[in-house]
Amino acid sequence: MPRNSRYDILFDPVAIGPVTAPNRFYQTPHATGLGRTMPNASAALRGIKAEGGWGVVCTEYCSIHPSADETPYAYLSLWDDGDAEELALTSAAIHRHGALAGIELWHGGFHCNNRGTREISLAPSAVSAEFVYPAQVREMELDDIARFRRWHRDAALRAAAAGFDIVYVYAGHEYLPFQFLSPLTNRRRDAYGGPLENRARLLRELIEDTREAIGDRCAVAVRLAIDELHGAGGIESDGDGSRVIELLGELPDLWDIALGGGLGNDSCSSRFAAEGYQEQYSGRVKSLTSKPVVSTGRFTSPDTMAGQIRRGVQDFIGAARPSIADPFLPRKIDAGREDEIRECIGCNICRSANNEGAPLRCTQNPTMGEEWRRGWHPERVPAAQRASSILVVGGGPAGLEAALTLARRGHRVTLAEAGNELGGRVLREARLPGLQNWIRVRDYRAGRLAQLENVDIYLDSRLEAADIAEFGADHVLLATGSRWRRDGLGHNRRQPLPPFELPNVYTPDDLFAGAEVRGEVLVYDDDHYFMAGALAEQLLAAGCRVRYVTPAGCISSWTAMTNEQDFIQRRLLSMGIETVFGQVIAALDGNRLSTRCIYGGAIAEYDFDSLLLVTSREPDDALFHSLPAGNATRIGDCLVPSSIADAVYAGHRFAREYDEDSATLLPRRERSRLLALANPEEMPL
Ligand code: ADP
Ligand code: SF4
Repeated sequence: MPRNSRYDILFDPVAIGPVTAPNRFYQTPHATGLGRTMPNASAALRGIKAEGGWGVVCTEYCSIHPSADETPYAYLSLWDDGDAEELALTSAAIHRHGALAGIELWHGGFHCNNRGTREISLAPSAVSAEFVYPAQVREMELDDIARFRRWHRDAALRAAAAGFDIVYVYAGHEYLPFQFLSPLTNRRRDAYGGPLENRARLLRELIEDTREAIGDRCAVAVRLAIDELHGAGGIESDGDGSRVIELLGELPDLWDIALGGGLGNDSCSSRFAAEGYQEQYSGRVKSLTSKPVVSTGRFTSPDTMAGQIRRGVQDFIGAARPSIADPFLPRKIDAGREDEIRECIGCNICRSANNEGAPLRCTQNPTMGEEWRRGWHPERVPAAQRASSILVVGGGPAGLEAALTLARRGHRVTLAEAGNELGGRVLREARLPGLQNWIRVRDYRAGRLAQLENVDIYLDSRLEAADIAEFGADHVLLATGSRWRRDGLGHNRRQPLPPFELPNVYTPDDLFAGAEVRGEVLVYDDDHYFMAGALAEQLLAAGCRVRYVTPAGCISSWTAMTNEQDFIQRRLLSMGIETVFGQVIAALDGNRLSTRCIYGGAIAEYDFDSLLLVTSREPDDALFHSLPAGNATRIGDCLVPSSIADAVYAGHRFAREYDEDSATLLPRRERSRLLALANPEEMPL
């Protein structure tokens, strides 16, 4: 199909200093959890983005020196020519598809714990190290600053040698150059402290050094946190943030505008920020510089994107998460297939991977991070060796993804869903406060399935064993989901509560089914992800008094991994929630819950009118056990309850591997070069 002319503006080439981007789709730097130990996987991931039409594809943070070490998190490095050799793989993979390759040179200052390199951490002023560690950070002396500038310059030269077109000076996310900018972290009394002109001196020098070293060949980009969201006293977009651009506006070739004060602000989840949410901070930048400006905002709507350019908010459409959820977003817009975009849902599972030190994964895009390891392409699947008829039972994320991918491979697919709508758990969960974008997991798959002729979908069709036998498919795939437990079993209680018959004890399933809780509601959370916090928010908004009891030390503790925990706790505290931490459920008696302190064992008691247990789920696998052995495969929550991302991945993996030779299915691994074997004199002692 031809491109919609409304979106032509998105495909204009744009000059960035000495290089030119082929269009306005700009994949801003984002972590992948792959880092320098997985150079092949990193290169393949970035290459796929370029193939998908992103005109600029950047790497994640790239350490310039061993004193910038975030072990165990995965970062890139340009400490020596060997690093440059590995990174050349990535720039080549990007260039193969005509895109510009950007690299984000990085020093984290007091964010670097240096556990891997055991270097002393450096910062503009002596402070405690950012991460929990009994160490402090040394104030940089003037000769440290001179050395730092040399490290940065050397890394820039290596970046150019490795084939990169855009080289970043990174003054965002509270990393070292930003630590100099902010009066909250810079207490210096020399030429690098005090007035903004002094605090911005290092940033100016880094831009000038980089331009002098490689500016004839490469564009010099600055990533700036224009607001650290710490209020007065810090960098604010209408104060020092804008003044930095007034001071240095014409020095770099491009401004990449971000937010500081923690990564949660910059990649805010959809629960707490809508598409385009950064405009209120970055919107003025273009009036302060003639250089191109890029910023992010979880853009997935081509109309919003074109509007950003037409209204002069920015010159490029910056994207990290939308490019993870759909690396082919630009190509789909170009081909007039924008309704096929796999829109990011803003769940931040991608962020959790990096926060756990694990390879990138995405709820919407099960191939992300698997491009090299498993050879998975986001848009192409291998044709089936022999077309089979496959019955998929259950239309939640696992069943939908399996059905779609099996059908794309050419199998004949029948999908039966008990409910009157597709979606499974996301149908329910997308109704929770702030989670409406999660329905995109269903919408993308249902939309694509509707286009395929080899798929039949039956709603209101709860299948029993006899129906399955009668249907007689070549293979039966069960994706029947899970249900919340009502026996208290959770992360901190490994034995079920004694059976009880209490009418006022509920699970999330009861609330989704319309149960009305009343009065004083006690929410007990031993699940620790979003569910208990989101239901507590819903109950508070409905006017209930809510007491939240958990064995954890904060509300929805695992959401620290999705960079949401502090947002959740702030919101619920502001709504008047009462919290009890460090207590595990011990017994239930009428309208009274007994809990045990997880440290001392002391018993506490809480009265309630209604009790909501959010502890763990059990697979809905009765159908599986009623079938003759070996007749069906289980995937997703009905095998093991987990995240939506894991259910989608399970559906995708089953469909890819169905009927394939199992010998080819082991994921590829990166191998170290065995120097000691090649050179016996390098043998370890
Ligand atoms: P997952 O996350 O693994 O996809 P969900 O709980 O989201 O699991 O979805 C499971 C879906 O399976 C639900 O929509 C449910 O209605 C459906 N389902 C469960 N049992 C049956 C059955 N016997 N026949 C048809 N559909 C079923
Ligand atoms: Fe978007 Fe969630 Fe995928 Fe991240 S994991 S890119 S937030 S859909």
